[in-house]
Amino acid sequence: MKIICIGRNYLAHVKELDNDLPTKPMFFMKPDTALLPVGEPFPYPDFSNKVHYETELVLRICKTGKSIDKETASEYYDTITVGIDFTARDMQSECKAQGHPWEIAKSFDYSAPVGEFKAINKLKHPDNIAFGMKLNGDWVQQGHSHDMIFDFNTIVSYVSRFVTLNPGDYIFTGTPQGVGEVHAGDKLELFLEDELVFEFEIK
Ligand code: ZN
Repeated sequence: MKIICIGRNYLAHVKELDNDLPTKPMFFMKPDTALLPVGEPFPYPDFSNKVHYETELVLRICKTGKSIDKETASEYYDTITVGIDFTARDMQSECKAQGHPWEIAKSFDYSAPVGEFKAINKLKHPDNIAFGMKLNGDWVQQGHSHDMIFDFNTIVSYVSRFVTLNPGDYIFTGTPQGVGEVHAGDKLELFLEDELVFEFEIK
């Protein structure tokens, strides 16, 4: 399977990182080794001193598709959860400054913890999905799918022009504002609507 991540998909987050507003979706990928086994803590990597959390809605692809139309895109995913797109922000800044790809800052082992997937049609508000993350018991990120610059169907259609989507692939759909650092000992709790779907610690 593969993990596709959309960058810069919430206006307030684009502004907080001082990035330009995108005119089309921007994506990058993480390998399957970025998944964090359920129940395991996230091992803080020794190559970074500034690891940021990015709390994101994650779609799971259920059908193979290539060059999918926006109109039929919703047939290609049926479950969703919340995950963290861990980012070594110090390394990403270095890569950006040198004009290099910043894959290394995004694709490292365990950089994509995800919760348990839920059927989208069983959610209370599938058209405007609330999600968020509590860090050590305090809300640090809360978002709504309605605030995405590019919606799920636009993302699925766009990505599939370049990369064939297969059942079991994940798509991280971007983070709202409020990204920040994690430290050893921190506890992260991830929520989909008002339900806790996942929790883990930083080691
Ligand atoms: Zn992200």
